[in-house]
This record gives sequence, structure tokens and C-alpha cells, in this order.
Amino acid sequence: MDLKDRYALSDVINAAGTFTPVGVSRSAPSIAAAAAEALGRHFIIDELQEAANAALQSWSGAEAGAVTHCAASGITVAIAAAMAGDAPEAVAALPCTDGLDSRVVLPAGHAVNYGQPITQAVRLAGATPVLAGDDAGCTLEALTEALCTPGTACLLLVSSRLVRGASVDLAAAVAAAHGAGVPAIIDGAAQDMRIAELVGTGADAVIISAQKYLASPTAGLVVGKAKLIKAVRAQEKGIGRGMKASKEALCGVLAALEERARFDIAAWSREQTEKVNWLKGRLEGLPGVRAEAVMDPAGLPMPRLQLALAPEEAGMDAAALRDRLKAGSPSVWVIDRMAAEGLLLLELEQLGKAELKLLSEIISGLVTQG
Ligand SMILES: *Cc1c(COP(=O)(O)O)cnc(C)c1O
Repeated sequence: MDLKDRYALSDVINAAGTFTPVGVSRSAPSIAAAAAEALGRHFIIDELQEAANAALQSWSGAEAGAVTHCAASGITVAIAAAMAGDAPEAVAALPCTDGLDSRVVLPAGHAVNYGQPITQAVRLAGATPVLAGDDAGCTLEALTEALCTPGTACLLLVSSRLVRGASVDLAAAVAAAHGAGVPAIIDGAAQDMRIAELVGTGADAVIISAQKYLASPTAGLVVGKAKLIKAVRAQEKGIGRGMKASKEALCGVLAALEERARFDIAAWSREQTEKVNWLKGRLEGLPGVRAEAVMDPAGLPMPRLQLALAPEEAGMDAAALRDRLKAGSPSVWVIDRMAAEGLLLLELEQLGKAELKLLSEIISGLVTQG
């Protein structure tokens, strides 16, 4: 009996992207096999972290890399590292930050919520988030002023579709942090395809979710300057203890990075465009539905399909369609962040051909029944 039947679980069609509440991604057999083999063995964890360090260096071009439990914990641990370095007393004392610089500056529009507010991931380390600018944007001057305020530990930036306001030039912001004498950390959790660009900003740490497009077991990849990565590893004897990478995650990450070395991003990108165009063709004739391909605003080379619903003609608004999709069997999940504005976003990356066809039939059925 498979897991679904054994535990009476729902069938899911995931059009919400690499979304945590529906299991994020599906690993290739080589990655699953590496994780399964790891579960049956002992390893010296430091050797696995060292192998990951070497693999992360060659994948990202950064000086060093380390693996944490997930990207959220990678953020907390990187902030802890920026504050405490690798001094054992400071590592053991966190989240008490007495005697340490503990202000963490973020552009206000980068205070995103990816399932938890990122400001909470900052506060978990004992740090105090300080927002610069407002939701409309943050000028380099405003950022520099906040960074130059005494007591500042680091700059935190986010590269994600969740970011609000005018876009912040990441490399310029990193340079502003370095000008103020503090390190810069970038949360690029879902932007693994852009790793070289993010590392190229000069950031001291870039954080990636390994279970998103790399499709490894859950893990956070922290790559960057050797000094900060050493301090990240030092947190394993501090607040990072509850945020550690497991042996199966480390082996899965190594296998996922090997898969990525064979991966053709341009071909993947074309395939995503074809899927979106195919579904657009199927859905745009439906009453009250406008379908439009929109590129990832952060720069991931992937479109999503945006559906705009006119409730009078479609017979339901975006929130109602979302609810009916979720309540069905299979349960269909979409991105509903803009449902109040009448918009649903469909990410098709996780879907195979048969699922895509089923998704098209389910949405068409619901909208034509009204
Ligand atoms: C997904 C995501 C996270 C959290 O990643 P986990 O690995 O699930 O902890 C953090 N930041 C952003 C921008 C994300 O998209």
C-alpha cells in the first residue's frame, strides 16, 4: 500500500510552485536514492559538510558553503554568524546579544512573509530588525543612513517575487553595507538558478532553499565569504543546533548538486514557457477569465500563468475558485496572494503533462459550471 492510502492522504495537483504546505518539490530518483542510503549508515558529519562545502563552491563560485536545516534557519544562523562570529562564548550566549552589534537593516519592502515573517527569522537569532525606507521603495541614501547607525550587525536583502516596492539594486546595496563596515546577507531562497548573479553582488552570504528547484531533501544552502561561512558552522554548537542539516539532507544536497551540473537551464526555461502557453490557450476562452503569462519578477527565467477573474461572467471570484480547486479531489493548489485583487497565479513547474491536462479540465469544468 502506498503512503497516500496507508495514511488516508489527499491527492494533490501542485500549481502553487515550490510551496512548503504541499511538499515543495519532487526529487529525482538519484537524489532520493542518496538520501535513502544515508538513512541506513553512519557518517562523520563534518566530512559531509566538507564535501558539501566543496560542491557548493564549484556550483556557486563562492569562497565557501555550509548546509543548514532549511533556508529559514539559514537566515537565522547567518544573522547569528554576523553578530557573534565564531567566538565560542558569544555563540553559546545567543540569543542574548549583550555587547554585540545586533541591528539588522532591511529595505522595508524586503520584510517579506514566506510562511513566517522574515523579521521573525532575524529576531530568533536575538537581533533587532530595522526597516529602511517604506513599502514603496528604499533609496540607497536611506539604506546607507540606517547601515551607518552604530550597533548595526549586517544588511539583509531578499531576492524573491514576494518583495514589494521599487526594486533595490542588490550589488549597490551590498557595496553600501561594505562601505559601512558590515556584512551583507541575501535571502534568495527560490533563486538557485541565479546563484552566480547573487554571489556576484559581493554578498557575504547568499541563502538558498535546496528543496525548491534543486529538489533535494529539505536543506538550506548558505554560500559566501569564507569568514562568514566559518561563523555559520560555529553556530552548530549554539542556536544552530536546532537548525542542523541531517545526514540524509547532506547526501541529498550532494546528489542534487550533481544533477544540477547536468541541467540545461535554457531548455528548462523554454519548457516552462511552453507549458504556460499551452494552458493559456486552454483557459483564455472561458467566460470571465483572462489568462496572461507573467515572468518571475525577481529574475528566475520562468513564467507563471496569471488568471484574472470577472466574477459576473465567471460565476465566481478568484477566492471562490481557489476554494473550489482546493476542496476537489485531487486537491488543486494555486498561488492566491493576489486573490483579493481578482487574480490567481499558477506555477506549472512541478506539473507533468498528464497533471497539466487534468488541471486544465478541472478549471474549465468549475468555471463553465459557474
Ligand atoms: C521559501 C522561502 C524561504 C524559506 O525557505 P525554507 O527552506 O522553507 O525555510 C525564505 N525566503 C524566501 C524568499 C522563500 O521563498
